[in-house]
Amino acid sequence: MRFSEKNVLITGAAGGIGSTLVERFRAEGARVAVADRDVSGIDAEAHLPGDLLDPGYADGLAPAAREALGGLDILVNNAGVITRGPVTETSDADWSLSFGVNVEAPFRICRAAIPLMAEAGGGAIVNVSSCWGGKAPGPNHALYCTTKAAIASMTQCMGTDHAHQGIRVNAVCPNEVNTPMLRSGFAKRGFDPDTAVAALGSTVPLGRLAEPEDIRDVIMFLASEDARYMCGALVEVNGGKAVA
Ligand code: NAD
Repeated sequence: MRFSEKNVLITGAAGGIGSTLVERFRAEGARVAVADRDVSGIDAEAHLPGDLLDPGYADGLAPAAREALGGLDILVNNAGVITRGPVTETSDADWSLSFGVNVEAPFRICRAAIPLMAEAGGGAIVNVSSCWGGKAPGPNHALYCTTKAAIASMTQCMGTDHAHQGIRVNAVCPNEVNTPMLRSGFAKRGFDPDTAVAALGSTVPLGRLAEPEDIRDVIMFLASEDARYMCGALVEVNGGKAVA
C-alpha cells in the first residue's frame, strides 16, 4: 500500500498504459481522478472527462482533481498522440494536435498543479516521454519525436526548478509498448497487429515488446517515496533496445 492516503491525477486514463495505472494506484491505496476524453466505465474516485486540446480544461484539471479528491499529491501526464512521417509529410493540423496534447496540455496541467502541491508541502509528477525524443529520435516520426523531446526537456527544467518546493518531476521514456497506440498504427499500415507485435518483439534483446504493466511499474516507482531523491530524471525503459 505505497499510496495509501495519496491523491492522484492520471491523464490518458482510458488508454493502454493509463488504465493499468488507474487500477494499480487504487490497488495500492490511492484515491484516483481519471482524465480522458471518455472516462465512463472506469472505476475511480473522480471522473474528469474532457479534451486536452481545450486550454480551459487543461488549466482546470489539477484544481478540479484537488477539489474532487480533497488533495493532489501525484500527477501522471500520460495522455499522448502519435503522428507519423517526416517533416515534409506533416500538416499544420498534425502540429497543433501533437504539440497540443503532448506538450501544451502537460505544461498547462503542471503550471496549475505545482503551486497546489507546493502549498501542501510537496508532491510528485511523472511525465510520459519516449525513448524517441526523450533519449534520441527514431526514424520517420519527426513531429512525435520533437514533442517527446520537448516534454523531456520541460521535465528536466521542472525537476530542477521545483525540487526546493519538495516537488519531484521525472519522466519515463519507453520504447515500443503493446498498447492501442502501437497496434492501431500497425492496423492502419495494413499489418496484423499480433504478428507485427511478435516480429517487433523479436528485435528487443529481452525477446518481447513492453506490456503496459512494464511501463506502469516504473511510473509508479518514480511517483513513490522509493524515488525520493530523483528529480528531473529521464528513465529509459526499453528491454535492452536503445534507440541510440
Ligand atoms: P493509448 O493510445 O492507449 O492511450 C493514450 C490516451 O490518451 C488515450 O486514452 C487517449 O484517449 C488519450 N488522449 C489522446 N488525446 C487526448 C485528448 N486530446 N484529450 C484527452 N485525452 C486524450 O496510448 P499509450 O501507448 O497507452 O500511451 C500512453 C503514453 O505513452 C503516451 O504519452 C505515449 O506517447 C507514450 N508512449 C507510448 C509508446 C507505445 O509504443 N505505445 C511508446 C513510448 C511512449
